[in-house]
Amino acid sequence: MLPMLIALSAAFGLLIGSFLNVVIHRLPLGVSVAGGRSECPSCHHQIRAYDNVPVFSWLVLRGHCRDCHAPISARYPVVEGVTAVLWALVAAIATDTVDVVLGIVLVTALVPITLIDLDHRRIPNAITLPAAIVAIAAGAAIDPDGQVTRLIAGIAAAGFLFVPAFLRPDGMGLGDVKLAGVIGLCLGPAVAVAILVALVAGTVWGVVLGARVGVAEARKTQIPFGPYLAFGAVVALVAGQPLIDWYTGAF
Ligand SMILES: [Zn+2]
Repeated sequence: MLPMLIALSAAFGLLIGSFLNVVIHRLPLGVSVAGGRSECPSCHHQIRAYDNVPVFSWLVLRGHCRDCHAPISARYPVVEGVTAVLWALVAAIATDTVDVVLGIVLVTALVPITLIDLDHRRIPNAITLPAAIVAIAAGAAIDPDGQVTRLIAGIAAAGFLFVPAFLRPDGMGLGDVKLAGVIGLCLGPAVAVAILVALVAGTVWGVVLGARVGVAEARKTQIPFGPYLAFGAVVALVAGQPLIDWYTGAF
């Protein structure tokens, strides 16, 4: 896609990333994400509009509140920057409208899901459900021919993870099942690549951690599966279809 559109997509991603920071902090607390200006968690001063420019303000203030000088987590600009990069990535690699729209829906859901799952070990329905509805509606409107394939991919992916979630609910939850469904609805058959990458990444990290701190300790510190699925989804977004073509061509 044109460099101009990629840059525009990145700029929108920055703004959306700023909103996702609000979602990440308020949604798990049950606080409305709409309205109510953001405030400093330390001194509770409202953040001024000119101090709320994504990434830029954090850099200008060198990661400190303008009022009380309490440090502000680097997570805020990182979330904004990563969202911008993911939006730009979707614009750069998508070849048709449906891929752009579903790619944007997917990466926008993945960012808060990853951080909320890391923080609270759960994936809120308040993110997966709207993402699924928007993906189904947009898919049906823009690319009705591909809709059945995406629905099957979503159901199959959710079904595949339902068994381990049912057998070992401590390792995987229904949130992961629903997330896999959303990835299938957005990426179609490439969701298989996402799940495979997630399982491999989770296993590799488990082994590395086990070797460093011991198996018992590694079990306790093992991170939830959602972030692995999100990582797998981004890999599948970038390289999923080429990998599937290569695989089906090789056999
Ligand atoms: Zn402050």
